[in-house]
Amino acid sequence: MCSARAMQEAERLMRICNACRYCEAVCPVFPALERRRIFPRADLVFLANLCHECGACYTACQFSPPHEFDVNLPRVLAEVRSESYGDSVWPRAMSGLLARNGVWISVVLALSVAGFIAGMVGVRTPGALLEARVGPGAFYELMPHAIMVSLFGAAFSFAMTALYMSAREFRRAMQLPASTSAASWRQAVKLAASLHHLESGDGSCVNTEDGPDRRRLFHHMTAYGLLLCLASTVVATIYHYVLGREAPYPLFDLPVVLGTVGGIGMLFGSLGLFIARLTRVAMLRSTANAGIEVAFLVMLFLTSLSGLMLLALREAPVMGVLLALHLGVVFALFATLPYSKMVHGLYRLLALVRHTEESGTPDGA
Ligand code: SF4
Ligand code: SF4
Repeated sequence: MCSARAMQEAERLMRICNACRYCEAVCPVFPALERRRIFPRADLVFLANLCHECGACYTACQFSPPHEFDVNLPRVLAEVRSESYGDSVWPRAMSGLLARNGVWISVVLALSVAGFIAGMVGVRTPGALLEARVGPGAFYELMPHAIMVSLFGAAFSFAMTALYMSAREFRRAMQLPASTSAASWRQAVKLAASLHHLESGDGSCVNTEDGPDRRRLFHHMTAYGLLLCLASTVVATIYHYVLGREAPYPLFDLPVVLGTVGGIGMLFGSLGLFIARLTRVAMLRSTANAGIEVAFLVMLFLTSLSGLMLLALREAPVMGVLLALHLGVVFALFATLPYSKMVHGLYRLLALVRHTEESGTPDGA
């Protein structure tokens, strides 16, 4: 359950904002809270996940510290959001797994799986890890395709199942009605896919004291980079099973082009988000989601870096080592996905559906 302290503080701030209403045009959280007079737990979970921590209301607020009202909505909503992640996670025993040591757990898991794969290759064919291999099927001479598919298919299926179960629990916790209109879903997907609210209100997403904020751009690069990499895997699967063509593919073949563009987007997007987090103004920096957020960014960065290095050096003797490393990182990314900041995208989408249903307006205002 969400801690009573975070809930009480969120409720206190909701009442202040509801009386003040200065920020009602800044983001959807304010019109949503103005439709309420009381704030039960489900509504606070909804409002917290509608917030995307842009910080605009903090700098606009005349009651932010050092004022005695001590209004810091971004930070308090981040705390409620963080606890709602833990409350919805599946299986429940994994709650809080990455909260404190997310980076270490993810990196150690990646290196363990990479070590296991390298050891397996070494036992099957001694010396194979450091031999140059070229042409179709080069990867599968090191690790048979069937084993690769079984291992990663299992990790991916587990991640999708856990994300689905977590979203179902979150939907219940937020009390999203069982029947929601297709129009609300369309609108919510449109708002989430365009990150529309990251330039709501006066157009500012506050991150640093000076200079333009680039979080929207980095979000886009990371999210669409990840989708392009998934598309690359789907096309490669079709090549393998339908066309009978084995990886690695030529540089300008579709799976490689999709993976390269996606990998570059993920590499610089995750790096940009990490730097934006480090340079965020102190009062907006929340430690509530630090573990899961940083771990997710690190795993996205390592996945794209190891993938691009494998592409660049796939005909060199080091290919076997890079393949083992890349597969280890991808496995760890899949395994930790349901416990990472990935859930933010899913839960915010559900919060936008509820908001669109409630507001009945195209932009949820
Ligand atoms: S954040 Fe501050 S200025 Fe904005 S509505 Fe709340 S109390 Fe008013
Ligand atoms: S931090 Fe941004 S998204 Fe969150 S309540 Fe404030 S203005 Fe809205």
